Amino acid sequence: MKNELLIYNTLSAKKEVFKPIQEGQIGMYVCGPTVYSDVHLGNCRTFISFDMIYRYLLHLGYKVRYVRNITDAGHLEASLSGKGKLDQLEPMEIVQKYTVGFHKIMEMFNNHSPTIEPTATGHIIEQIEITRKILEKGLAYESNGSVYFDVEKYNEKQNYGELSGRKIEDLISGTRDLDGQDEKRSPLDFALWKKASPEHLMRWPSPWGEGFPGWHLECTAMSTKYLGETFDIHGGGMDLKFPHHECEVAQGKASNGNPPVNYWLHANMLTLNGQKMSKSTGNTILPMELFTGDNDIMDKAYHPMVVRFFMMQAHYRSILDFSSQALSASEKGYNKLMSSLKDLDALPVKADSSEDVEAMIDRFYTAMNDDFNTPVLVAKLFDAASYINKVKSGQANISKADLEKLSREMKGFVFDVLGIREIEESGSNKLDAAMEIVLELRKNAREQKDWATSDLIRDKLNEAGIVVKDSAEGTTWSLN
Ligand code: AMP
Ligand code: ZN
Repeated sequence: MKNELLIYNTLSAKKEVFKPIQEGQIGMYVCGPTVYSDVHLGNCRTFISFDMIYRYLLHLGYKVRYVRNITDAGHLEASLSGKGKLDQLEPMEIVQKYTVGFHKIMEMFNNHSPTIEPTATGHIIEQIEITRKILEKGLAYESNGSVYFDVEKYNEKQNYGELSGRKIEDLISGTRDLDGQDEKRSPLDFALWKKASPEHLMRWPSPWGEGFPGWHLECTAMSTKYLGETFDIHGGGMDLKFPHHECEVAQGKASNGNPPVNYWLHANMLTLNGQKMSKSTGNTILPMELFTGDNDIMDKAYHPMVVRFFMMQAHYRSILDFSSQALSASEKGYNKLMSSLKDLDALPVKADSSEDVEAMIDRFYTAMNDDFNTPVLVAKLFDAASYINKVKSGQANISKADLEKLSREMKGFVFDVLGIREIEESGSNKLDAAMEIVLELRKNAREQKDWATSDLIRDKLNEAGIVVKDSAEGTTWSLN
C-alpha cells in the first residue's frame, strides 16, 4: 500500500486517514435500491461510485466484506376484494422483477456484486429484536400498535443531528409531519415498527400486533448482523444523510450504546438539466434508454462503459450533470485511453526510459489515496497515454522493465480500479456491413410506402436485440 488513504468522513466533515478496525480487513455497508421500479441513472451513479471505492480497497490488498441491501419491504396496498389469489397484486412478484432488472444493469456497468446482498423482508426478526432493545432502554414507546423512536429523549444524552449537522431545535420548529402525528410524542419521532392497515399487503406478526418495520431500521439490522455493532464504512447517496442515516446512527447508539460506523461516505447526485435526477419528479433517464438511444435527451446511444468512464471523470462527492455534450467528450476520451492500452503491448523498448515511470505510477496512487480522486487519476492516465504515444512515434523511450510496470499498473487502474472494460468488437465489422444492407432494404420499402415490410424489419431486429431509430437525420441502430 502506497502512502496513506485519506477518506472524507461526513461525521467529522474532514478528510481523515483511514484505519480499519481489524488490520487488513474492512466492513462496508451501502444502502441498496428500493426494488419497486427500475433504477434510474442517478441511482446507478451512487452504486458505481461505491463499486469504484470497493474496487480500490481491494486493489490496496484489503479483504472487504461488502454488504448492500435490497429494500423489498414496502408500502404496497391493495383493495381486499373477493378476487382469487392470483388476481391480487403480489409484492414479491414486483420485487423479483425489479431485483433481476437491477442486477442486469449493475452487470452491464461492470459493477462487482456485493459479498452479501441481504433483503429487508429476510430480516424481520432482527428488526423486531432491535425495536425491543430500544424499547427496553426507554428510548422508544408503543402507540396504537406502532413503535416510535423517542428523538428528544435520546437527545438528552446523545446528539441527534451529529451526522447531518442539524440542530434539534431547528428540526422541531421546522417539522410539519402529519402522517400519524397524533400517535407520536414529537413530530421528529420516527417509526421503528408500523401497525399495518387492512389494505397493507406486506405484514408480519410482532409483539405489538401485525405490522411492518420502519424503513431506517432495516439497514441497522442488516449492517449490525453482518458487520458488527461498529463497522468501518457506511455509504449511500447524499440525499440519504438525513433523515435515513441520522436515524441509523441513533438506532445503533440507542440499541447497543456504540456508534455504528467509523467512516460515513456520501456520494453526490447526478443531475439532468441542473435538477436532481429523481423518480418522484420524473426527471430521469433509465440506463437502457441510454444504451439503446431510445430517449429524447441524447443525440445517440452510449455504451455502458462510456457512461461509466464519464462518471469516473467526476469526483464522487461532486455533483455531475448529465448531457449529450459531456458524454460525447467522454466517448472520445474513453477511445483514446483504450487505444493507448492496446499500444502498450507492442511498444519498442530501449535500454533506458526518458521519463520517470515510477513517479508516473506514484501519481495514480496519490490521486486515489486523496479521497478516491478519480478525475485526477484519469488525468494522470492521460499523461501516461501521451508518453505511450511519444514512445510509439519514436519521440521518447521506455525500458523493458518500466514498460512491464507501466502496463501492469495502467491496466490495474483502468480495468480493476475504475472498472472500465473494453467494448467487445468481435464480429462487429461484419454486423455493421449486414446492418447497412438491411437498413438500405428498409429505406427502399419506406420509399415505396411499404410500411408493412419496413415495420416488420424493425420489429424483427428489435426482437433480435437490435434497436432501430428513425429521425430527421436518417436511421440509426444500436445493440440492446
Ligand atoms: P432509492 O432506491 O431511492 O433508495 O435510491 C438508491 C440510491 O440511489 C440511494 O443511495 C440514493 O441516495 C441514490 N440516488 C437517488 N437519486 C440519485 C441521483 N440523482 N444521483 C445519485 N444518486 C442518487
Ligand atoms: Zn439504508
